[in-house]
Formats: sequence, structure tokens, C-alpha cells
Amino acid sequence: MGPKQAWGAFSVMLILGDLIASALLYDIGLGVLLPVALMLIVPLVYFYILYKRYHVEVVPESDVVLFEDPEDLMILCNIYGLDNSGELEVLRQRLLEFVRTNKDNAFTWVAPKAVLSLGSALEIEGVGGSAGRGKPTPTNHLPGGRTRSTSRLSSIDRCPVCDSPAPKKGTTCKKCGADLEFYVAFGESKLGKLVLSEKSGFVRRKIRYEEPPSRED
Ligand SMILES: [Zn+2]
Repeated sequence: MGPKQAWGAFSVMLILGDLIASALLYDIGLGVLLPVALMLIVPLVYFYILYKRYHVEVVPESDVVLFEDPEDLMILCNIYGLDNSGELEVLRQRLLEFVRTNKDNAFTWVAPKAVLSLGSALEIEGVGGSAGRGKPTPTNHLPGGRTRSTSRLSSIDRCPVCDSPAPKKGTTCKKCGADLEFYVAFGESKLGKLVLSEKSGFVRRKIRYEEPPSRED
């Protein structure tokens, strides 16, 4: 079951729950206003958040080939609800297939694991899809078709991944080794923000684990 269908199933359950809760509130004598407000506001807020957070860009094929950290590809697989096992090239192939299948859509629905597994639990029919293989050559240096520029680089003052101060010279973070410009450019998209929030949590834990005390800011 794809994320879109999973959200459909999840939404139906949430709306039902909302209706039941409103009916119960009305039943215990809280008047009409509060139950009706709840009935209307909950779905509104829910769909707003859903759309804001989980309707994200399909990463372009030319971007998929730019990622060199298997962890990034794993996070992307997670976000798109794909299997996240395997080495760099396996992950990349899986993403490329996904991207090619969705190449006519600029946006796609994504869902966290919990929603996907709930969807699968309710699933009646399976969906599957695959496309061609082959590794395209990267045409651009940065995600989103952007090219590197010294002005962007010099405007970066903190690492977009681990949030430590950016080095005065050089293009990579001294703390976590991230390509500063790459992740700043990627972080300009909604999808990039999702990936970065996952990645930075992971990277910061790793940094804390590797070199405990030492505080300098
Ligand atoms: Zn960093």
C-alpha cells in the first residue's frame, strides 16, 4: 500500500474518531457549540498539517545521483515509504525506480512508518510498480538544479546538518563532514527539510557519542 492510500485509511479512522468524540461530548451535555467546533476544527488542522508536512517534492532523478551518503538515501527511502535496506547502489536504484515511476508528478504523498503499517494492516489489494534501470550521469552539482556559488557558501554560518559553526574556509563541516552547500541547497525544499531533520538528529547523536565533553562555542 502506498503512502497516499495509507493516509486515506488513516484519515477515515481519524474522522470517524472525531465524529464519535463529538457525539460523546454532545451526549454528556456539553451543549452544541463545543462538539461542533471539535468536529470541524480537528479535521481542518489535521488536513493542514498533513498537506504541509507529508505532501513533498519528488526528488529529481538528477538529484538522486548526487547523494553519496547511504544514510541520506536510506532516509529518502524511509520518507517515500520504500524498503530502506541495502548498500548505496541498491538504495539508489530503488529510489531511481520510484522517481521514474513518479516522474509525471512534482509532488507525492509520503507517510511515516506507523501510518504505512496501519495502512498495510487494513490493506485489501496490493500495489506494485517498477521501471527501467541504469544510472544517469549527474548534470548539476547541487540538488534542485542549482550550481555552486561562493556567495552562497560564504553566507552559510552554521552547518545545516549538525548546527556547529561553519568553517571560515572550505566547503565541508569540520564536525560532521557534511558538504555545506549541498545540504543548504537541499534544505530549501520541503523534502530537504524532512531529510535534514532526520539526518541531523542522527548525526548529532553520533557526534555526542564519539567525542563527549569539550565545550567551545
Ligand atoms: Zn556539521
